[in-house]
Formats: sequence, C-alpha cells, structure tokens
Amino acid sequence: MAFAQRHYDYVIGGAGLSGLSLCWHIATHPGLADKSVALIQSPEDEKHAAGKTWCFWAKDALPDPVSIRYSWQHLEVYAGKTALKVPLSTMGYYCVQGEDYFAKMMHALRQMHQVDVIEAQIGGFGESKSGVKIDAGGRPLTAQYFFKSYGNPDLKRARFRLLQHFKGVEIETDAPVFDPSTARMMDFRVKQLDGATFFYVLPYSETKALVEYTLFSPAKLPEEAYDAAITAYLNRYYNLQQGRYRITRSESGVIPMADSIYRPQAGQRVHLTGTASGIPKASTGYAFSRIHRQAKHIADSLALHGSPRRQPDSSARYRIYDLMLLDILSRDQKLIVPVFEALFANNPIERVLRFIDEQTVFSEDVRVMASVPWLPFLRAGGRNLDMLLRGGIAPRSTSS
Ligand SMILES: Cc1cc2nc3c(=O)[nH]c(=O)nc-3n(C[C@H](O)[C@H](O)[C@H](O)COP(=O)(O)OP(=O)(O)OC[C@H]3O[C@@H](n4cnc5c(N)ncnc54)[C@H](O)[C@@H]3O)c2cc1C
Repeated sequence: MAFAQRHYDYVIGGAGLSGLSLCWHIATHPGLADKSVALIQSPEDEKHAAGKTWCFWAKDALPDPVSIRYSWQHLEVYAGKTALKVPLSTMGYYCVQGEDYFAKMMHALRQMHQVDVIEAQIGGFGESKSGVKIDAGGRPLTAQYFFKSYGNPDLKRARFRLLQHFKGVEIETDAPVFDPSTARMMDFRVKQLDGATFFYVLPYSETKALVEYTLFSPAKLPEEAYDAAITAYLNRYYNLQQGRYRITRSESGVIPMADSIYRPQAGQRVHLTGTASGIPKASTGYAFSRIHRQAKHIADSLALHGSPRRQPDSSARYRIYDLMLLDILSRDQKLIVPVFEALFANNPIERVLRFIDEQTVFSEDVRVMASVPWLPFLRAGGRNLDMLLRGGIAPRSTSS
C-alpha cells in the first residue's frame, strides 16, 4: 500500500483491541477532527483478534461499530455451597467475538478521511524533542505522538505476579444441552490447583457453547492438562462423553495479573496502551472495558490538552483491594473458594460486577468487604502494610 503521507499527528502501533479502539476514539472525537492518524496494522493482527472471545458487562466507551454477538440476562455461579442463578436487571453480560470486532472496526476506520491504515510490522522507533520516528516495515514515519499497543507490561515493581491462563473450546452437540439464557460466570466445582481454578460456560444456543477452563496461578499448565480438565467437566456436569460433541474452535491465552504494573508512559511522546500499559485489572485480568475507557480518556485528553495526560490508574482503594486479593490468591489458596463463595452469596450480583469493574461507591465497597471472611484480608493487609500506606503501590526497592 502506498503511503498517503509521512508525517502524522498520531501513529498507533498495532491494530489489536486497544489500537483499534484508540484509533476510533481519536478519529470520531469532535475536538480532533483536523488531526491525522496512521494505524499500523501488523499482518498478524487479524489472526490474533480471531482467537479471542471477549466478555464484559459495561458498554460505556464501546465503539459504535462493534456488534454484540451474544448477551445473557442471567448469570450462574458455583462456589462452595453456593449455587446461584440470578437475573441481571440494570446490565447485561455480553460477548463480542474477535473476528467481528476486527472486521467491523477496520471497515469503519478505513472510511474515515483522517485515518490511514498502513500494513506493516513496526521495526523500531526513536524519540526526539519534536516528535517520534517510527520504522514501519522499513519505511520511515514521523509523528507528534506514538501509541504503542504491543509488548509486555513492566512487571519489575510487582510484588505478586500471577497469570490468568486459560483454554476454551467451542462445542456443538446433537441433542439440546445448554440453557442459552444463562451464562455460567464462575464454576469452582473443580480441583483447585495452586491458585483459583474455575470454568465458565457461554451457551450460544441449546446445542452450542464456549466452555473455558481458567486458572489464576503462577505458571501455565501443559496443554494436555487443559484438555483433560475440559473433557472431565463436560462429562461430569453436562453428561457429555467424548464423541457426543464436536469441537469447532478453540482459544487460549495468558493475561498478567500483578500489582503496580500500570505504566502508560514510555517516553515524552511514546505512550503505551492496552495490556502493554498494564491496564488489565490486577486481581482478575479483566481488560476489555478498561481498554475502551483508556482509549476514550486518551482521546479526550488530546482534545483538551493537546497531549495524552496520564490516564487515571485504578484508584488507591481498588489497588488496595486488588493487592489483598492477590496476596490471598498467591499465599492462601485454600481460602479462595470461601472468599468467592461469600462474595457471591452475600451481595447482589450487580454489586459484585460493579465492584470488579471499579464502578462502586465507597458505601458499596464497605458492604462488599464486610461480606467476605475478614481474617484473610486482615492478614493480607498486615503482610503488605508498607504498600497499603503507599496506596497499594510497591516501593521501588521491591523490584527484581
Ligand atoms: C483468548 C483471550 C480471551 C480474552 N478474553 C477476555 C475477556 O473475555 N474479557 C476481558 O476483559 N479480557 C479478555 N482478554 C484480555 C484482553 O482483553 C485481550 O488480551 C486484548 O486483546 C488486549 O488488547 P491489546 O490491544 O492490549 O493487545 P492485542 O489485542 O494483543 O493487540 C496488540 C496487537 O499488536 C500487534 N503487534 C505486535 N507486534 C507488533 C509490531 N512490531 N508492529 C505492529 N503491530 C504489532 C499484534 O499483532 C496485536 O494484534 C482475553 C485475552 C485473550 C488472549
């Protein structure tokens, strides 16, 4: 593809979730109508997006072109003695598929006059006082600001480092098996391996569902361990023996779960977005809604200040809750199911979802914290008093 120009106001590296979302929020912002944007699309982007199913329950900042593939108005949770099936009244539980997201967003962005989509792998970049030089597949570009959405987050300061790792399979059955009105959000009725271990099930119809085995633990499992767990779960909870279902697609992933990793700035004019910036929620790995809010914040900030001011991290109180939960997840595994059991049994589901999404008011937080066993949290607080006093941020000396 020929370049329309060589200098842009903004260059966005990587057309994954955060790159596409940022490009859309900038290009549709009324205060940025005269700004030019280059979106650098790597040849791998479409394949990367196609391997993902995104679930979320907050639609604010979701770009207009994105279409929701499935939604559920009931959620199921199994934790300890708690077995819940509850309706959602003020929100839904939604699912977007990566290939839909990529196709709809690319189509919309290609129509926008201020956006050039450039197919290239970024080789490197360098910053000067006046701008950034970017090597887009051997061709030089310059920009006022470069937004980099690829690479790993900086884990140096993290005290607790877990991974959310998972494998999911989309299956089809001949006979009706699933209840398509209800998403199974967390099912802890499985052997707890060193961390929280659970399934979630997204039924697309009575005969089709995504069944995902998820762990919050320090290291990935061998591939066959995920497969064996999925086979056993389908057998036990859906009476589905192998041969009675077909696997039509599979996905797997690893998302960092760690404290103190949010670091959106990589230079005066180079900013990180998405997972690379450490935006996933520290204690759950949820990233989808946070990435869209981050993109909107950057666009608002560019329009208001002319520069991408540091977008807010989780507030101190959520950093502290995350820190304590990460401590319990890392050191007190036998308490994990009782904590989740109490959380879901003693709170309306929508309060729990807003809490995970950091949208609760303080009085709701107090109710959430009062609803879970307090001793593990007290111990976790005691073990991390230094960080609690710093608003949940690790001191520099803990880096390794
Ligand atoms: C299978 C899976 C399922 C997930 N499900 C959920 C979910 O249900 N809910 C939730 O909240 N979060 C979920 N996540 C976490 C998170 O939302 C995703 O990982 C999300 O894709 C992160 O977006 P990103 O833009 O940070 O990274 P990516 O989407 O990975 O985008 C980075 C892009 O940069 C490109 N790139 C890399 N190197 C270069 C280069 N040198 N030059 C140009 N481009 C480059 C890559 O090809 C890639 O497309 C899931 C993650 C995975 C892996």
